[in-house]
Amino acid sequence: MKYIPEPFKIKTVEPIRMTTKEDREKAIKEAGYNTFLLKSVDVFIDLLTDSGTSAMSDAQWAAMQMGDEAYAGSKNFYDLEETVQNVYGYKYFVPTHQGRAAEHIMSKLLIKSGDFVPGNMYFTTTRLHQEMAGGTFVDVIVDEAHDPSNPHPFKGNVDMNKMQKLVDEVGADKIPYVSYETCVNMAGGQPISIANLKELRVFCDKYNIKIMLDNTRTIENAYFIQKREKGYANKSIKEIVKEICSYTDGCTCSAKKDGLVNIGGFLAMNDEDFYVDAKAQVVIFEGLHTYGGMSGRDMAALAQGIRESVENDDYIKYRVEQTNYLGELLTDAGVPHVVPHGGHAIFLDARRFLPHIDQEQFPAQALAAAIYVETGVRAMERGNVSAGRDPETGENRKPKLELVRLTIPRRVYTQSHMDYAAEGMINLYNNRDHIKGLKFVFEPKVLRFFQARFESL
Ligand SMILES: *Cc1c(COP(=O)(O)O)cnc(C)c1O
Repeated sequence: MKYIPEPFKIKTVEPIRMTTKEDREKAIKEAGYNTFLLKSVDVFIDLLTDSGTSAMSDAQWAAMQMGDEAYAGSKNFYDLEETVQNVYGYKYFVPTHQGRAAEHIMSKLLIKSGDFVPGNMYFTTTRLHQEMAGGTFVDVIVDEAHDPSNPHPFKGNVDMNKMQKLVDEVGADKIPYVSYETCVNMAGGQPISIANLKELRVFCDKYNIKIMLDNTRTIENAYFIQKREKGYANKSIKEIVKEICSYTDGCTCSAKKDGLVNIGGFLAMNDEDFYVDAKAQVVIFEGLHTYGGMSGRDMAALAQGIRESVENDDYIKYRVEQTNYLGELLTDAGVPHVVPHGGHAIFLDARRFLPHIDQEQFPAQALAAAIYVETGVRAMERGNVSAGRDPETGENRKPKLELVRLTIPRRVYTQSHMDYAAEGMINLYNNRDHIKGLKFVFEPKVLRFFQARFESL
């Protein structure tokens, strides 16, 4: 079967509107060629992000009606705490309003000025919080991750030689933890293997270094382990998720992804002192430790969403295979993109799509804008603009991967939406010569991709 039928039926609909190409040309110009600055009413199919864009189930909406909005000790907090402990297996839980808030608190507490934080590729907000806490991020992902056509099944893995080299160079006492992300977003949604995590655990125990999980897409990663890693075919997603977390010391999580909700996040850990300190910090930046920036009903929806994401394996299979279906349509038409296909998104390779545009003219940004004009589909740049400038040299970081992310919201779009999006991109690929590069007209100092504005060259 090329497509798995959606394991749900639709109970509520939200109309979407097709615009004309002239409308879209005007809209993208007004948005400074930045898809983040488009209005959502001007978008037909929104593949900007899978963050907070999930459709909730009837059970989640029902749970929201049961929100206990007490300032302190809401019953929804205790339900969510127990759910996180059950599903992810950590002892202690601190709610935050989204993932970056958890990163902020963790970075402040664990990183000292002059420390180094190795990670399996960077994530935008994660690295920024590490830097703001005085740390330096060091990429220790396997080389295969930087090659968009390398078929390695676990391109999210850490290269143990790079870890050893870092320890030898800076000393283990300058490395508070390894930032270990599941289904590595910036690498194209590429999974880690349990074998790699086990090896890293042994290494980190030897040097007394913590492993902190970026838990945002662990459920999707578990599906790839079940499908690809030897010995896991007969384990449930729930068992695999728990095993992944068991090799780590704690996590930050953006619940807006795997958690099937529109807002939410958390920090979890096994160390009691860290927990006590994190609770003290959450009160300063987020709210009391029994809501951390979420309302009672948000916590109710999240607890139910986490349970749904692991209660049987059908949901996650459909979710990841829907992404794969879009990827296969592009593969059949020869449109260059990152392989193997990631769990949450297909990443077009803008270098090969637009070989006539120099990286300093932001090919991925230009491609995302062109896709919108051609199809009404909104995508996101994940290349030179997202990577930002090196804080020391001030130069563009010019990452090896110059990608456009087509991110699939969970339980929102159907097979025909995927067919439509693929057809539009295939057409664009066949007429790509007219696409021009861009130059900055406004460049924010940090996380510039969110608000930057460009002009067509
Ligand atoms: C989205 C995301 C974050 C940040 O979480 P927010 O909820 O957007 O603040 C961190 N890490 C990864 C891998 C993410 O995808």
